[in-house]
Amino acid sequence: MKLKRLSFTFFNFAIGFFAIAIITIFITLSSQKVSTQLFKSHLNFLENQRFYSYINEIKNISILLDNLQYNLSYTCDLNDVTELEKISYYSPQIASIQLTTHSGKKCSDHRDRSSLYSHPLQYIPLDPQIMLIANKNNSQSILQYNKNIIGGTITVDIVQQPNNPLLTKLPKNSWLQMIEGNQTTLFTGDPTSAISKIFSNEHVRGDIQNIIEPILTMSLNNKAWLKYYSTPTVINTYRAQIQPYLLLLLALFTSAFIFLCYRRYHSASIIKFLVENAIKQNHLIPYYQAIVDANKQQICGYEVLIRWETKKGKVIFPDEFIPQCETNGVITPLTFQLINTVAKDIRKLEMLHQGKPLPYYFSINLSASVIQDPKLVEITRNALQHYKVKAHNLAFELTERAPIKDIELASHVCQKLNDMGIQIKLDDVGNGYCDFLALQKLQATTIKIDKIFIDELDCNNKNSIVSSLVAFADKAEVEVVAEGVETTEQAECLLTMGIHYHQGFLYSKPQPFTNILKIYQSKNVI
Ligand code: C2E
Ligand code: CA
Ligand code: CA
Repeated sequence: MKLKRLSFTFFNFAIGFFAIAIITIFITLSSQKVSTQLFKSHLNFLENQRFYSYINEIKNISILLDNLQYNLSYTCDLNDVTELEKISYYSPQIASIQLTTHSGKKCSDHRDRSSLYSHPLQYIPLDPQIMLIANKNNSQSILQYNKNIIGGTITVDIVQQPNNPLLTKLPKNSWLQMIEGNQTTLFTGDPTSAISKIFSNEHVRGDIQNIIEPILTMSLNNKAWLKYYSTPTVINTYRAQIQPYLLLLLALFTSAFIFLCYRRYHSASIIKFLVENAIKQNHLIPYYQAIVDANKQQICGYEVLIRWETKKGKVIFPDEFIPQCETNGVITPLTFQLINTVAKDIRKLEMLHQGKPLPYYFSINLSASVIQDPKLVEITRNALQHYKVKAHNLAFELTERAPIKDIELASHVCQKLNDMGIQIKLDDVGNGYCDFLALQKLQATTIKIDKIFIDELDCNNKNSIVSSLVAFADKAEVEVVAEGVETTEQAECLLTMGIHYHQGFLYSKPQPFTNILKIYQSKNVI
């Protein structure tokens, strides 16, 4: 059943997520700052990808060269040239390849690279083997890879990666790409564009810097810096480009959000429908857990704990449906039916002993909304009369999951129940909304200490919460029941603290009525 609870948490989480996503898309659509940030991140991501593609290509080429070195004679004869041409022809990532032997001979795949390597060369070394090279007028640039092999050095020009798709879609002259390093600046984006030409002119550079803004700086092996500049039109164009996608996302997220809200509402109404059906079909069954007087080693009462037994025989615990029943109001008919069932069960037990009243109370849990319902008194009175059960056999414990809104009304209802002879207990004290005033107003005769305080019971600590609660109960002249007693150590400790009414797995787990009936039939107790 924990799964069900998880799925509710998941619902909340998913609804929250979609709501945040919708707000974010709205902000992106309307704010220049957010669009700029999005553009920067997008550009950065794509440029990183391009950079890693280059690195991967270099690794592949390095492996090819490792093999090639054994096929060369290092004399630059026809065989060597053929080998170079072959590798260049079959490797799409190689633009051109050249061998320089140890004796100084040079040969290549005969591709004409003179326009790129025309002097004076501009270059930025990225590491000892990799160099970024551009010709003097910046009209061509390429990555060059140098590898030492057994008989010399191989120089490979690597084919350029396709341009960043984000930039190619932008208007001309609206952006600029530069690489700075080795006291050189290369305009590698579109060097023929007017903006590059203007920017490369030292005299006008200062003026234009006001119009075009730096948008991204990326380090290349810490040896060079890739820098992008753009005009404000870039962000507007980018925003116009992504707008249809954002609107589509917005529509998708909004649909998902509405769908989840509907499902959530629907599942709440499904639970209501199922519980109402379960009430009609008597699938909500009381289980009974003994409350003992540990001094006398005797049972003094039972707590009634509801279970939902499905048609397939699965038992659903109250924590899984009581909170929902409290929200949707079904808790009231559920409790009213339970009061009748419990009265009937008490009568059945009494009938085992010629109808003599039982010396135990059966304590039914009441949620805040039920104790504020004036019909409770009438329903209880009718049930007692109908099954000829004495009022002292019944008790109510007020669970403190939600605060009582109308304490005067609740006090009035409690007064009437008290007048009938029914005891009121306050549940989970120390954990909820109980105080001295509430205790008086609700005329409670008992407080129940929650299991979490019993779990951390420390008999040597005179200032523990349990000790304070005992002092509080003494002052208010009410009895104390300790819940969730699981070990003999806890039981002994509680006794030394003066708490002798115990409830917990140490004594008994909650059991269906048939078990209680069997015990009384076999032992013939009472
Ligand atoms: P609660 O009123 O605090 O009931 C005590 C819970 O502690 C029960 O869980 C019981 O089975 C469990 N318990 C008792 N002794 C031990 C122990 O030694 N060890 C451990 N681990 N657990 C122990 P259960 O039956 O699951 O009920 C959970 C809660 O559901 C109850 O807490 C009560 O607040 C609520 N509840 C149960 N039946 C009803 C009902 O008919 N109406 C309302 N309004 N609430 C109910
Ligand atoms: Ca309880
Ligand atoms: Ca409790």
